Amino acid sequence: MKKYYVTTPIYYVNDIPHIGHSCTTLVADVLARYHRQLGEEVFFLTGTDEHGQKVAEEAEKAGVAPIEFCDKITPRFKKAWEELNISFDYFIRTTDDRHKKIVQELLQKIYDQGDIYKDKYEGLYCVGCEKFLTESDLVNEKCPLHPAEKTIKQSEENWFFKLSKYVPRLIDLIENEKTNYIFPKGKRSEVLAKLKAGVRDTSISRANVEWGIPVPWDKTQTVYVWVDALINYYSATRFLKNKKDFWPADLHILGKEILWFHTVIWQAMLLSVGISLPEKTYIHSFYIIDGQKMSKSLGNVISPGRLVEKFGVDGARYLVTSSFPTENDADIGISRFVEKYNADLANNLGNLVSRLAKLAEKNKVEIEKSKSVFYPEVKKALEDSDTGRALSFIWTEKLNRLNAKLNKEKPWTLSPEKAKPVLKECIEKLLEAVFNIKPFMPETAEKIKKVFEGKIKTTKVLFPKIEN
Ligand SMILES: [Zn+2]
Repeated sequence: MKKYYVTTPIYYVNDIPHIGHSCTTLVADVLARYHRQLGEEVFFLTGTDEHGQKVAEEAEKAGVAPIEFCDKITPRFKKAWEELNISFDYFIRTTDDRHKKIVQELLQKIYDQGDIYKDKYEGLYCVGCEKFLTESDLVNEKCPLHPAEKTIKQSEENWFFKLSKYVPRLIDLIENEKTNYIFPKGKRSEVLAKLKAGVRDTSISRANVEWGIPVPWDKTQTVYVWVDALINYYSATRFLKNKKDFWPADLHILGKEILWFHTVIWQAMLLSVGISLPEKTYIHSFYIIDGQKMSKSLGNVISPGRLVEKFGVDGARYLVTSSFPTENDADIGISRFVEKYNADLANNLGNLVSRLAKLAEKNKVEIEKSKSVFYPEVKKALEDSDTGRALSFIWTEKLNRLNAKLNKEKPWTLSPEKAKPVLKECIEKLLEAVFNIKPFMPETAEKIKKVFEGKIKTTKVLFPKIEN
């Protein structure tokens, strides 16, 4: 059986789940469900990143041990994903001993390989990112992602990974169409340009951060939280039963703020120990909320809970996946979400279903099993991780046309003999579209199928209109 392995980033346990995490996780979920519908064996991994200075500091503030702190707040993410009906197969936590063991084994191998050496690190560190910054990363001398936080000057002895050694190899892989793993195009060019501009070796350990995995050959240091986190994609396939064959991952999906780790450092580490590289890494852009950056201080952060409350689970899933920011940032807003919900779900799909159900019931139409195939355009869009394009195709090319056909042929004015074939054709086409909609809106798809399966019965309104 064909296998498919998709991952989301493991989210930093301190974060509050918002629409940014949600879009990454939802698109991964759509892809996982799509591949399951194709009959493939799927492994869908998500989880939380729990080590690092920031977690330790927050735990101290709360007056508890770091692990207690993590145990308490990890469920936030699990709960958010359950609310959005995310079908993950496993939720990994980097504080899991089985993960820690594999991190240590892998680093020991890189060390034995001669690719790790001790050096002095001097530079700026953003605790918000848990990341060393270079001068070129700074905007007004601050981390652009954490302008409210200070960057700290640090100088310490660290273990360094010979990243520069693998740069020529990475450039070759990315430049070759057959082996390129970075999508979409713009992100691929961005990484290539940075690689060609010159890359220095990278620190992979910290001297003064206790809350981390000990470096196996030097217990005075812990593994840098980012290196520990990246290894989760691989470690889960080692310590879970029957998951070995899922490596290499088919797709890592992530936001652009963590592009460098996922397209350069991770691959170089794997090259060092001769482990196959993940097939594909898809890097999406950000949401802009009504023309502004999403930020806690502006109070415009959209949470998955709020979306589900307002639009229902499938409504939220539809709105997020249809606005998924691919190559460029996407400007969204709640009032535009309301308009889109009313237009696409309440009016278009919802009305179509109720009109057809009423007419079919009246004219005693019977439907045999519907076709279960994905439209080639939807397949192509999903192979490109472009959920927005897939949905836009289904709505403009399929559902709009079905609505237009109904309006033109007016089966409600026809005799039952003449109305029947028109309705039958429309319902069959609708059910074909519903099969394509299922990875995005699984519950809605099931509800619609039930309406038309066997004896047709009208249903309550699928998507009640929402006041703006
Ligand atoms: Zn930062």
